[in-house]
Amino acid sequence: MCLKTLRNLRHTLALRLTLWYAGIFAVSSTLAFALAYVLIAEVVREQTDEDLREDIQEYAAFMRLGGLDRVETEMSVDSEGGEGHQVFFRLWGPDGRQLAATDLSAWTGLSEPKGISARFADTDEPILETLALPRREHKVRSIYGVIAPGMVLQIGESLENNEVFMAATFRGFLIVLATIVAFGGPIGWFMARRALRGVQAITRTATEIMHGNLDRRVAVRAQGDELDTLARTFNLMLDRIHALIVGMREMTDNLAHDLRSPLGRIRASAEMILTRNGSKAEAEAMVAATAEECDRLLEMINTTLDIAEAESGAAKLKLTEVDLVELVGDAVELFQPLAEDKQVTIAVDLPNACRVRGDRQRLQRVVANLLDNAVKYTPSDGRVTIKLDDRDERLRLSIQDTGLGISPDETTRIFERFYRCDRSRSELGNGLGLSLALAFVRVHGGDIAVDSTPERGSTFTIMLPRLHAA
Ligand code: ADP
Repeated sequence: MCLKTLRNLRHTLALRLTLWYAGIFAVSSTLAFALAYVLIAEVVREQTDEDLREDIQEYAAFMRLGGLDRVETEMSVDSEGGEGHQVFFRLWGPDGRQLAATDLSAWTGLSEPKGISARFADTDEPILETLALPRREHKVRSIYGVIAPGMVLQIGESLENNEVFMAATFRGFLIVLATIVAFGGPIGWFMARRALRGVQAITRTATEIMHGNLDRRVAVRAQGDELDTLARTFNLMLDRIHALIVGMREMTDNLAHDLRSPLGRIRASAEMILTRNGSKAEAEAMVAATAEECDRLLEMINTTLDIAEAESGAAKLKLTEVDLVELVGDAVELFQPLAEDKQVTIAVDLPNACRVRGDRQRLQRVVANLLDNAVKYTPSDGRVTIKLDDRDERLRLSIQDTGLGISPDETTRIFERFYRCDRSRSELGNGLGLSLALAFVRVHGGDIAVDSTPERGSTFTIMLPRLHAA
């Protein structure tokens, strides 16, 4: 592995996780082993003490059964042979004089306990202590115990076996610990790599997308863990971005398309004014038509900007108390002549007044756009009915017509910018009216619903919160 790879490795999350794993593994194993070692040492020590206590009781029984002779015999039997290096006995009488002892040549440094009999004047409870004799490698555990009235026996036992056992235990723990630490690293590395595989897949996909492959998506495994959630969220985000890009592309295509025809017309009429030697009145009419065309273009561009401003949340609402009934009445008045021309009846079913907090101008444009559409897309002898339901906190203003209607596929698209249904292309329009209405209603915290049946008519319902806070 070259130096650069090693340097890169140093910054990987996998390595950091591995080191954490191995560290935590090592520390917790050491603590567990230390605890186990202390417990084992305690058990061994207690066992030794228990054995010594039992020995005292045994010698008390020998004393009862066979007197001093029997005790002395047992003492020499117990300390015979190799045992002589492991155990010693000393016996004192009521006057404090030593009555018997085994060979103490291997136990140099043993002190003579002063007034040992006196110490047991009030109690028979044996006295245990650990001795460190100068010429013995291992410590000695000793017990003083009463085996007959006034007679104190000391039994000393080398702790060599215990210490050898504990040293072996310690070595065993060290070997196991070293093995755990040695294996903990690779296992931690393997687990960290495994856990991070999903992240690597996401990084790879993001890199591919960065290089232009916008259709790539992360494979979602069926494990339902955090990485799956991340992958799914990542894919959803990509879908959303993709939809936005497609939407923007469509919008710019539509904008370009919608700008081309009027600009062509403007150019043609400018050319005609320049080249034709018509009358002044003719030239003035052409200039007026060109100005009108320019106005339409400007309106389209301004509407697009208004929608963008409302959708981005940058629109500053001029909130006042608005009477919706009055606002709808004004709009009806405005469209009445157009409706009469087309022989479309506009009927209203409104309460006396209905106040909301909102931006009057924007709400006027919303109602005007919907009413304009209703009249525009309703053939002669049709009917447009406006109703206001103000019983709930959420007001419902519905504009119903008996017009062309919209197919179910298209109802989902009519709120997109520049979208126009094929069958309505014969009417004037730029496909921005509904987008604008929806954007304005949404900045008021409301929504627009549509219910439509082709050839039967449509109902557009504006839902508005009554007390829209500033
Ligand atoms: P336009 O300027 O084309 O009216 P809109 O955004 O207002 O643009 O509407 C988008 C499309 O939705 C219209 O082109 C039309 O096809 C359809 N539409 C809107 N309102 C109605 C309606 N009341 N009846 C039938 N179709 C409608």
